[in-house]
Amino acid sequence: AAPSSASVIAAETPVLAHNYHPLPVVVARAEDVWVEDVEGRRYLDMLAGYSALNFGHRHPALTAAAHRQLDALTLTSRAFHHDKLAGFAAGLARLTGLDMVLPMNTGAEAVESGIKLARKWAYEVKGVPADQATIVVAADNFHGRTTTLISFSTDPVARDGFGPFTPGFRIVPYNDLPALEAAIDETTAAVLIEPIQGEAGVVIPDDGYLTGVREATRRAGCLFLADEIQSGLGRTGRTLAVDHEDVVPDVLLLGKALGGGIVPVSAVVARRDVMEVLSPGEHGSTFGGNPLAAAVGSAVVDLLATGEYQRRAAELGEVLRAGLSALTGRGVVAFRSRGLWAGIDIDPSLGTGRHISELLMAEGILVKDTHGSTIRLAPPLTITREDLEGALASLGKVLG
Ligand code: PLP
Repeated sequence: AAPSSASVIAAETPVLAHNYHPLPVVVARAEDVWVEDVEGRRYLDMLAGYSALNFGHRHPALTAAAHRQLDALTLTSRAFHHDKLAGFAAGLARLTGLDMVLPMNTGAEAVESGIKLARKWAYEVKGVPADQATIVVAADNFHGRTTTLISFSTDPVARDGFGPFTPGFRIVPYNDLPALEAAIDETTAAVLIEPIQGEAGVVIPDDGYLTGVREATRRAGCLFLADEIQSGLGRTGRTLAVDHEDVVPDVLLLGKALGGGIVPVSAVVARRDVMEVLSPGEHGSTFGGNPLAAAVGSAVVDLLATGEYQRRAAELGEVLRAGLSALTGRGVVAFRSRGLWAGIDIDPSLGTGRHISELLMAEGILVKDTHGSTIRLAPPLTITREDLEGALASLGKVLG
């Protein structure tokens, strides 16, 4: 007989680092928006791998691309060329309106790579004195877990005990243009922000903020780096969250859904004059841009090029917003949503976000809390209206 959830969880404890506190569900299978645990219970996946599963679990076009590539070639390293990378890069550049792609694996690596690119650009093009480059970032950011990225986190849990930290970052409040402009000076290589702050609780800046960041960085002669690792690739109802203001950053950081929930794939996508500051040997990754990643990434780009997923996210986003509006004052204190992405502040007297997540799990709905009493919803963009309405009904039930 298959092992029980409890026995699997018990077996993990002594051998697995305790850097996560998962909900007590042990998933064994999944298809599209549904996952099934080892006991055969089904759950609606309303987290979608923190937006890595924008196209659902095992989308047929994506698994087909992966299977085809598994049977042909999986890895060359970048010591050699392979036949899938040019198509992936060209497709991603076309999709994003930028010019050149630096393929990496995880989100944190893409952000690290973007920081290195911005610094090199500052020294070679802008003329910042050696080792003086600064990067302006926002409070409550989440860009990943490496030592440099946590150096400018404002979350003590992410930072404490991991110093010393990387210098060269200036932290300003999010959604505060005057503070951002005041922090920019002649040493500034770039402004690095999330167009919507995901881990902070789906925090959406005021209309005009992204346009203001674009104008301020252009005026000051520094780069605008947009971390769209969670917000990008259809989630908000547009290909990119910056598209809502028709803003084009100089450098775009993508990850998560770029790998279709199958392989880790991330990328720095940039204007040609910026990316061209990198020369052979100055940066790299053994697995970055590998054939399997490129094949799946190309298939993801093809899905997004249809516009269908962005359209679904926009249309179903209205259903999500209406459902959450109806719950506001009835267990929901406030919510923020764009497309199929919502941060929901639950009345703290009803329990922590963790507690609400456990209640929803018992209803067959998987979600994740962020901070305190906030939960986030980010279902696959393939979810049906009926399933979305079912999830909202379950939320209403556990809050009522
Ligand atoms: N940037 C943003 C905006 C994210 O939301 C995340 C992950 O949640 C990352 C970067 C880091 O990505 P990864 O976990 O793949 O390193």
